[in-house]
Amino acid sequence: MKCPICNKQSKVFDVRHPKNESKRRSRICENGHTFRSYELSEERFQELLDYEKYYFKVQELSRTYDS
Ligand SMILES: [Zn+2]
Repeated sequence: MKCPICNKQSKVFDVRHPKNESKRRSRICENGHTFRSYELSEERFQELLDYEKYYFKVQELSRTYDS
């Protein structure tokens, strides 16, 4: 995975796997930027998509009521 800041190659220096949660990786690039990456299970990913749809729906509705 490339660094989102400078686009250099990065490596993992810490992995956490909380119970019932997606795996969290702390990564560091050649320039010392640190960032996190998440590993999502298919199930969890679907949940997030559904959540997003719901969120946009709510936004849509509130916009309708505003005008
Ligand atoms: Zn970087």
